[in-house]
Amino acid sequence: MKIEEALNNLKHAIESERLAHAYIVVGSPREEGRCLVEQVLSLVFCSAKKKPCGDCRGCLDVREHTHPDIMWVEPQMKSRKISIDQIRDLQKQVFQTSYSGGWKACVLVGADRIGDQAANAFLKTLEEPPKRCIFFLLTDSPQFLLPTVVSRCQAINVASGLLNLPSDLRDKVVDILTHSSAVVSGKRSVITAFGVGERLAGLLGEIKDGIEKEEYQIAEEGSLDEDDDTLDARVSSRYREIRSAIIHALLLWHRDVLMLVCGTDKGLVFRKEAYDCLAKKAEGLTVRAALRNIQTVEEMNRQLERNMPDKTVLDFGFSRLN
Ligand SMILES: [Zn+2]
Repeated sequence: MKIEEALNNLKHAIESERLAHAYIVVGSPREEGRCLVEQVLSLVFCSAKKKPCGDCRGCLDVREHTHPDIMWVEPQMKSRKISIDQIRDLQKQVFQTSYSGGWKACVLVGADRIGDQAANAFLKTLEEPPKRCIFFLLTDSPQFLLPTVVSRCQAINVASGLLNLPSDLRDKVVDILTHSSAVVSGKRSVITAFGVGERLAGLLGEIKDGIEKEEYQIAEEGSLDEDDDTLDARVSSRYREIRSAIIHALLLWHRDVLMLVCGTDKGLVFRKEAYDCLAKKAEGLTVRAALRNIQTVEEMNRQLERNMPDKTVLDFGFSRLN
């Protein structure tokens, strides 16, 4: 779901006083997820008639994370976990009267990074929620939340796929996509197509190594008693998510090309910033070929899901893309 759409739904819920106690916001805790939460909070805490005004004390405090009625709970630096002490602190605060006499809010940033003990304590709060208090659980890995927690929240998914990637990675992926489109659109060359598949496979390898390093480091620093299987599962799940985000981006790319081949106007193109490149690509293709590209990417996705080796799938897939 797009952020504007999610925001509209929530605005409606606020106006009709049908706001849920707790929302799970699926999206990057640093980007689109946080962006949505801040915008909703501006709606709730803005004191102007036309909300959000962006200028009042409320709006400013939301933006700067200094609002006395909003608690931002982030994983601790060292353990990278939300601790039981943080949850106890939160429980104390949510039952105090609000400073502004209105709503209170709690945002758990990276809510999946909550330890079991802390999660169970937090669950109690969700079971008997304080009045006029809204909880946001911000996460890009909702599969790590306790099912009992999930069942007490409404989920909003604003994950934009590619945006979940750190910006340096995102640039690399976009570069590969643009490049693949540019080289293959001229004289079709199997060698360059293989090269692109290889570059993407190489990048995926780098990504996986990075995740592995990070997770093992977190486990070591926080002296968490997670066994290797749990760690491997975490690494593999994060990696698969990024990989599928990249394949999704590839799919959107070819969807854009198909739309242009069919004569759709620029306004409906997903990646407007790459319009020239897409248009050039579309020029040389028939509808049939553009459709076949989409099928090829979908097939690549299925093969990856079936655990075929990344490099084999990408090499073969890219060699078939027109
Ligand atoms: Zn305002």
